[in-house]
Amino acid sequence: MSYTTVIGLEIHAELLTKSKVFCACENSFGGEANTRVCPVCAGMPGALPVLNKAAVMLAVRAGLCLGCKINNYSSFDRKNYFYPDLPKAYQITQQDNPICSDGIVTIGDKNIRINRIHIEEDAGKLIHSDNGVTLVDFNRCGIPLIEIVTEPDFNCAKQVCDFVEEVCLRLKYAGVCNAKLEEGSLRVDVNISLMPKDAKIFGTRAEIKNLNSLKSISAAIAYEIKRQSEILDAKGKVIQQTRRFDEKSGKTSSLRQKEGYEDYRYFHESDLLPIHLSDDDINEIKNDLPELPQERLTRYINDYALSPNDATLIIKNKEFSDFYDKTVMLYPNYKGVSAMMLGELNRNINNDKGDISNLKFNPKMLAELIKMQNDKKITRSGAKMIFAIMYKTGKNPTDIAAENNLFLKDNSDEILEIAKQVLAENPDNVKNYHAGKTQLFGFFMGQIIRKTGKGVNPETVGNILNELLNN
Ligand code: ADP
Ligand code: MG
Ligand code: ZN
Repeated sequence: MSYTTVIGLEIHAELLTKSKVFCACENSFGGEANTRVCPVCAGMPGALPVLNKAAVMLAVRAGLCLGCKINNYSSFDRKNYFYPDLPKAYQITQQDNPICSDGIVTIGDKNIRINRIHIEEDAGKLIHSDNGVTLVDFNRCGIPLIEIVTEPDFNCAKQVCDFVEEVCLRLKYAGVCNAKLEEGSLRVDVNISLMPKDAKIFGTRAEIKNLNSLKSISAAIAYEIKRQSEILDAKGKVIQQTRRFDEKSGKTSSLRQKEGYEDYRYFHESDLLPIHLSDDDINEIKNDLPELPQERLTRYINDYALSPNDATLIIKNKEFSDFYDKTVMLYPNYKGVSAMMLGELNRNINNDKGDISNLKFNPKMLAELIKMQNDKKITRSGAKMIFAIMYKTGKNPTDIAAENNLFLKDNSDEILEIAKQVLAENPDNVKNYHAGKTQLFGFFMGQIIRKTGKGVNPETVGNILNELLNN
């Protein structure tokens, strides 16, 4: 039988605050276990949480860039469950009154509705060692998260991946989250169910937790479509489950039967006051919002006259786009910089699996190189050579050009003498040229360039020759 796939997402994103969400411990990644812990995030009796204002501001930014309504009133609840990485035995979250709701993100011609965005705290991390001992690291306890919950509006993996990419891009531009799937600063849970084509009622879903790349998301969805359709074809019932995805086997497997809402015994978090945001507060955050990808795209197309295709390629990577912006600030040759970065820079990065955020040269050097080429001090192929050396060594382009003898000579007087000489030596060809054999222009050019030697500017030669022959 053929089925319609229905998918909804829950996305956890770590907020880029300096400190944790309810205490003053540093919000950072890595380091020695249990070094960023205090009585609040370790859940000691009597320790009281204090809400980090920066987390609220970033959650509002997230809502604004995902087309959500920002709620004037939101509040915190306790989600109760026991697990060794959760020392309080409850997670502080926003169940009843989330900070943002009812968003829309348009991807191509598809609207994805966002049900809500709420603030919550992360749990710690269990470290399972080989000898059967499990250790717990509380450093991650209390790291501020937002959870973005979409409506079940997706029908295939491509839509999901396009959406996740777009959300990552917007959150990065907005300074909300560094959105690195592979490093876990943004984690995607996929809820997926199948229903007979044209059915009105959704099927029972499985939730696949913590997918950490677009590739895994696609593979997990493909596997679930196969697994669930086989169950349904055999007239079986899909059970509501939380599942994990194994990258090696490409399969999902059951983690646990999904808990119901009641199991968590949600109740109001009375240690924290509700968040009241006036319309003025919200507007202030809106006015402070950094340039978002769509705005930058429009700037590139309208103000810089880049093609939509090139502009899209540039904005798709924030670090790349930031480098572009810094370069054109120094030398506003918008198309020249775009061509060099999309061509030479990308080629070099691809060739040695380089990283845009870790280049040896800076925007000032790139601007200098492109200016040299534009001022016709070097040839196009010279610029490429210089670029490759600059990319490898981080050396200054002027020095590279000098060391490799790549500066074009500006020796018009010498060229003029040689040109006259070449024409004098070839009277028949000059006659033929004037009789209409204009392709002989190339022959004269070749002769002159050969006699002048390396580094002669072909354009200068052309101009001089043209003067001599046609005036
Ligand atoms: P819970 O809080 O129990 O996880 P929600 O109703 O909040 O349940 O939904 C969680 C996610 O599951 C949302 O992203 C939603 O879009 C998605 N979802 C809900 N029902 C279905 C379904 N039948 N098939 C696929 N996804 C679903
Ligand atoms: Mg859920
Ligand atoms: Zn702490």
